[in-house]
Amino acid sequence: VAQPDRVMIFDTTLRDGEQSPGCSMTRPEKLRVARALADLGVDVIEAGFPAASKDDFDSVSAVAREVHGPIICGLARCNAANIPDTVGYTVPDEFAELFRYLRKNVRGIEQVRLSVHCHDDLGMAVANSLTAVVAGARQIECTINGIGERAGNCSLEEVVMALRVRRDILPFETGIETPQLYPASQLLTEIIGIGPQPNKAIVGQNAFAHEAGIHQDGFLK
Ligand code: MN
Repeated sequence: VAQPDRVMIFDTTLRDGEQSPGCSMTRPEKLRVARALADLGVDVIEAGFPAASKDDFDSVSAVAREVHGPIICGLARCNAANIPDTVGYTVPDEFAELFRYLRKNVRGIEQVRLSVHCHDDLGMAVANSLTAVVAGARQIECTINGIGERAGNCSLEEVVMALRVRRDILPFETGIETPQLYPASQLLTEIIGIGPQPNKAIVGQNAFAHEAGIHQDGFLK
């Protein structure tokens, strides 16, 4: 059996997520979230947009100084080519075709890691990200609870659990410590005061209500 390919998890909760209305965080709050992301085992934390303001610059610097493990970046793509669906309007087949086209036609593309950045305007950010991985992407940009502008970004917990649970047809692995998904979701909810809707997949309060969270606890391990 071939080793599953490693997919990097690039968390942008503190940049793309934090920019959305109602989701702004103070520097100490960003540090708490960044520590939770490190415990979760994300590969990259996009900690802010340092060019935006002195305050953003200071926040990114503080995270880089105090949080160890993940690569900390500020709108830097770490030797990756970012393929976004910023308006969130693509569908899986179309997006997979874009990746196949790029891989076929862009010289030297095999030397860079293709990174996928999807928004959820049509509810397909997770599906589009997964299909991009099948078509050659090896990094997924996502946020805790799927926070982000408009309908939000690709949800970290959903995309990670899909890869985890369906390894039979998606032969990929991430470095995520899945028991930390729920605590990370809860921490973010506590900090920004906005939680996932009760029926949200994976981390919603009713997602596994038939067993009062016990099944959820087992599932996330
Ligand atoms: Mn975005």
